[in-house]
Amino acid sequence: MPRNRPIRSTEAPSADLTVRSGLMWAMGLLLVVAVLGGQALHGDVRVLVVDGSGIVAVWISAVVCWMTVSRVGFRRGEVLLATIAVTSFSGCLTYLAVVLAGGGPLPLASPADAASLLFYPLMLAALVVAVRHHSRGLPWSVWLDCAVGSLGAATVLAVVLSPVLVSAQAGPPSLGAALAVAFPMLDLLLVAAVAGLAALGGRRMGSRWPVLVVGLMAFAGADMVIALERNAGTFVAGTSLDAGWGIGLALTAMWVVGAGQGEGSATRAKRWASGAAALVVSAVATTASLGVLLVSSRAHVSTLAVTLAGVTLLGAGARTQLAFRHLGVMADQRKRAAATDELTGLPNRYALYAEGHALLSEPTCQRAALLVLDLDKFKEVNDSLGHHAGDLLLIQVGDLLREHLRAGDVLARLGGDEFAVLLDDVSREQATEFAVALRAVLAESFTLEGITLHCSVSVGIALFPEDGSDLGSLLRKADIAMYKAKVSSSGQHLYAGSDDADDGTRLRTVEELRTALVEDQLVVHYQPKVDLGTGEVHSAEALVRWNHPRRGLLYPDAFLTLVEDSGLMPALSRVVLTVAMDQAATWQAQGQELTIAVNLSASSLVDDDLPDRVTALLAARELPPHVLQLEITEEFLMADRDRAREILTRLRRNGIQISIDDYGTGYSSLSYLRDLPIDELKLDRSFIAPMADDARAAALVASTVALAHGLGMRMVAEGVETSATYAELARLGCDQAQGYLISRPVPASEFTHWLGDWRAARRVSELPRQRVPVPVGSGAERTPPLGTLERGRPRS
Ligand code: C2E
Ligand code: CA
Ligand code: CA
Repeated sequence: MPRNRPIRSTEAPSADLTVRSGLMWAMGLLLVVAVLGGQALHGDVRVLVVDGSGIVAVWISAVVCWMTVSRVGFRRGEVLLATIAVTSFSGCLTYLAVVLAGGGPLPLASPADAASLLFYPLMLAALVVAVRHHSRGLPWSVWLDCAVGSLGAATVLAVVLSPVLVSAQAGPPSLGAALAVAFPMLDLLLVAAVAGLAALGGRRMGSRWPVLVVGLMAFAGADMVIALERNAGTFVAGTSLDAGWGIGLALTAMWVVGAGQGEGSATRAKRWASGAAALVVSAVATTASLGVLLVSSRAHVSTLAVTLAGVTLLGAGARTQLAFRHLGVMADQRKRAAATDELTGLPNRYALYAEGHALLSEPTCQRAALLVLDLDKFKEVNDSLGHHAGDLLLIQVGDLLREHLRAGDVLARLGGDEFAVLLDDVSREQATEFAVALRAVLAESFTLEGITLHCSVSVGIALFPEDGSDLGSLLRKADIAMYKAKVSSSGQHLYAGSDDADDGTRLRTVEELRTALVEDQLVVHYQPKVDLGTGEVHSAEALVRWNHPRRGLLYPDAFLTLVEDSGLMPALSRVVLTVAMDQAATWQAQGQELTIAVNLSASSLVDDDLPDRVTALLAARELPPHVLQLEITEEFLMADRDRAREILTRLRRNGIQISIDDYGTGYSSLSYLRDLPIDELKLDRSFIAPMADDARAAALVASTVALAHGLGMRMVAEGVETSATYAELARLGCDQAQGYLISRPVPASEFTHWLGDWRAARRVSELPRQRVPVPVGSGAERTPPLGTLERGRPRS
């Protein structure tokens, strides 16, 4: 028995499917015979053919329905209810056919009426269950449309059925008369319900929903026409009209089969379709009711029809009011969305303009300040930790800023990592204090997906009305001031007239940089890395400089931020790599086997083609891959570990060495050291400089040396400026040292000379290996002459 099956599949087994489709075909065929027979035949033969094939067809409908029930069990209420309804009506029709076949007149009240009366509540209940199943979450407006649709349909039918109602009222009360009214009224109810639900219709109720709608309409239509004919005394048994019931039940059975197979859930499109259908149905119903009211002013229409028309119009009125309310709410939401930044939920630039304009044009507004805040190194966070982390940071920054505003201040996100705060009624000093306070708030650490990082921000301040009388000019000046704060690393800056010139300079510099990249204005200086064990130099770091046509030699701190901000970093990396590899080839030709370390920012490593490009650069110069070392920072490794591993592995596989630059300053994690293919750690100079005087700093260096060696990596110390540090590093077993003590970065030609001098000095000293390279005294004593270009540079 179906009940005992633990899990029931809604898919029919194929044998069942074959039987069912055979039955449906037979059912259809019989109905065609009934309809055609009703037209073509006459007399008793016609009655026999029409009613006979009709009866067989409705019983086939009942069988198909019960097959579905046996397949899906009793859990689908609508299937069971419709099946019982179809069966009871089939019984009723059979009874009537038997009476007709016996030659008797159609009885006015019989047991068959009880069975057919049952059809309506069962079918209505099936509809309610089906609708509840499919229409969860529909808005009220759609239900109201359905109600208007139902009422409209009822109104029209009430007009059509007027003759039946009037004659029933005219005669003496009897069971027959009551039934004569009851059936058309139940049909009216059914059609009203179907019309209302057709409003829900669309595909939301499943693709077979129209089948049911048409079926019930055919059923009720045939029933009503027969009632009208019987009322008028023109009814003849066995016409095609009789097939109307059979068609109705057959289509209901088809719907039952469809419902038993289960249909997909409502999608957005379906929901839209049902909304549109509801609107159409309710509009048609409203128009029809208006028509009925108009007709009633000229001709007699039943009170029921007029009442229904009135109620329909009331419903339509309520629906219209609801629609207006919805429109109002939607317009509000649109407006709010247009003024809101999607990511942070803060007002956006557009909203800042609107609110700023309102504030500044108030007569009571005497003074105000606009602060433009831009996160420092946000691009690095994005490039290294990924866009998701960048987004999280922006959301957290937005929340923090919001918490620290006064009532009446306006906070907005201008886009990217830029925020703006409009402060009402503040003095110059108060605005600056506010900027300092906000910077302090943001200096607290942020936690992004388990990584703790600190965020600094540069703030530009413009004052109203001194720097501008409208928001546009204040925004421009605060932006210029912000950039000034950024390049001077001062944190915040109050706009001054002279800043305009600086802003122009910045824009011009970006243009000049583009030119520099293609016109060979970028030059590379080389700084040696000394082997602390042997005192030999086998490698050098390539450091970029800009030979500016007007401003002379510029160091990275003067232009790298701008390069990064203007998206030129990948281009710069390509230039430096090319120059450095050309130099390696030159040294190679001179018999100098020197490895060159090139710095790569996280943003250049975003490029997936990099490993292939680098390999091609080496191959074009017939250089062995080990002459190139790439210095990358920890941030890149921390971001997308899988991507980092993939790129580094490809580079490493090609024989290129990987070095971790500024080790200890980034968002360190020991796990990447274990996971990723790395050859060298370059401990940042902030750990090296204090080690001579600070035992704790020395301990840190010692432990990093142990860590590097433990993992099979080389350890390089950066920023070695004193011989004491040099000696200490050698004692701790550090592998290589780099720093001003040995040499500043110098142009290639000077590097060649320096190297010659360095090697000569070592040969002269002829010291045993372990004592060799320790330079004594100041760097100037031991270090060969500094490169002229680097000499004048202040120590950073
Ligand atoms: P970095 O990679 O840490 O390079 C070492 C920096 O420390 C260089 O500054 C170098 O001149 C300086 N330095 C070396 N020895 C000493 C010392 O004993 N004491 C002190 N105080 N400083 C020392 P530079 O050339 O100004 O470069 C600064 C930064 O710019 C580099 O730091 C690197 O991050 C970046 N950079 C330089 N060239 C390139 C490049 O071609 N591409 C990229 N992406 N970044 C570069
Ligand atoms: Ca470096
Ligand atoms: Ca470094």
